[in-house]
Amino acid sequence: MTAQEFDFSDHSHRRYNPLTDSWVLVSPHRAKRPWLGQQEAAYKPTAPLYDSKCYLCPGNERATGGQNPKYESTYIFPNDYAAVKIDQPPLPKTDPDKDTLRNRLFNVQSVRGNCFVICFSPKHNLSIPQMKLSDLIHVINAWQTLYNDLAREAREIHKPYKYVQIFENKGTAMGCSNLHPHGQAWCLEAIPSEVSQELKSFSKYKHEHNTDLFADYIKLELQEKSRLVLENESFMVVVPYWAVWPFETMIVSKKKIPSIGNFNQTLKDDLASILKRLTIKYDNMFETSFPYSMGLHQAPLNATGDALNDSWFHMHFYPPLLRSATVRKFLVGFEMLGEPQRDLTPEQAAEKLRNLDGEVHYLEKF
Ligand SMILES: [Zn+2]
Ligand SMILES: [Zn+2]
Repeated sequence: MTAQEFDFSDHSHRRYNPLTDSWVLVSPHRAKRPWLGQQEAAYKPTAPLYDSKCYLCPGNERATGGQNPKYESTYIFPNDYAAVKIDQPPLPKTDPDKDTLRNRLFNVQSVRGNCFVICFSPKHNLSIPQMKLSDLIHVINAWQTLYNDLAREAREIHKPYKYVQIFENKGTAMGCSNLHPHGQAWCLEAIPSEVSQELKSFSKYKHEHNTDLFADYIKLELQEKSRLVLENESFMVVVPYWAVWPFETMIVSKKKIPSIGNFNQTLKDDLASILKRLTIKYDNMFETSFPYSMGLHQAPLNATGDALNDSWFHMHFYPPLLRSATVRKFLVGFEMLGEPQRDLTPEQAAEKLRNLDGEVHYLEKF
């Protein structure tokens, strides 16, 4: 066999994710299977501005009998089917120091908290890419208010709140049944695993290199540019070097800002603008209302010490679509039993996203 030079866009390799301390298998040669020309526009935007059956539309009755006010901007209310609640009995008492099999293997923690729904807009048929920048600012303001209010309630009236996970689940492909533009916030008395793993990774990196993981990562991505999708003064959007989902992206604050609680007006304007530009690119990718799960990662509420010093505001977008509006990626087989795998390289995905323009045009086709 003749010596061949390694080609990252052809030969299989594994990439390390320093945030989650895990690996992803990249098999670029498999992406050569033909897939262009298979885009199908499955989405027909026929939804009305107002839907009398929608439990999120202004003035409508909610599933549990409450009624929404006739809100005219972003609107937050407690989730009628909250995953965690403030009031519940304490766990049965056990002696944690006793070396029993149960103590070794069946670890359990009490978890209280609160869950909220955030209606982005009173208009039933909009989504982030179609919203005006001035309306997106209301969404960002709502996230900030929620973050700061929950922190204050924890401080002043001892509510059991340690971390608030703000997220949006969009599209039926992600299991979201209501089209109305909305996100959620789940506030827990514990730091969820993904975030707590990141905090561990940040701390380890700082210990080893005496600098922030994200400070180095931003420097490197802006230098290499091959995974860069968008940037403005305050933020960059990249397909992470270690991305698992085909068109996964991350919005990262260029400067170290622990949370949205500290955002000034410039940061809010820049986040609104980059959110809109990114989601328009997503919609134009397969000419559909692009489904995804996205969310904010930031400092725990009232963080101090390392948790505050190591936190760096960023957002993850995990979209499931693979090669058309109707063909999605599943994490199955080897990925469930071994580790995640992707065909398209993050560099190829970033190039596709970079080359898409920033106008909403798929709507005009219908
Ligand atoms: Zn609605
Ligand atoms: Zn993160």
